Amino acid sequence: MQCPRCKTENGTRTICSKCGYYMYRPDTMNREKMTKTEQAISDTKIVGKRVGKVFKYVWMIIVLIAMSFWLVAGMVVLVSLLGGG
Ligand SMILES: [Zn+2]
Repeated sequence: MQCPRCKTENGTRTICSKCGYYMYRPDTMNREKMTKTEQAISDTKIVGKRVGKVFKYVWMIIVLIAMSFWLVAGMVVLVSLLGGG
C-alpha cells in the first residue's frame, strides 16, 4: 500500500514506515498476506520506534535539568562554604 502522505510503498503495512501515517482500511485485500498478530507486531515496532525517538528527547531534557540543578546546588554549597569560612 502506498502512503497517501509521503508516497512511500509500505507493502502490507497499515502504518507508514517513513512518516507513521495510519493507512488502515477494513476492506483492504492485501492485508491477507500477514496475520493480524504479525500486523500488530510490526505496527507496534514502528510506533515504538517513534515513541523511542520522542523519549530520547524527553530524557535529554531531564538530564539537562538534573545537571543544571546539581550545578546550582554545587555553587550554593561553594558560596556558603566560602562565606562561612
Ligand atoms: Zn508516509
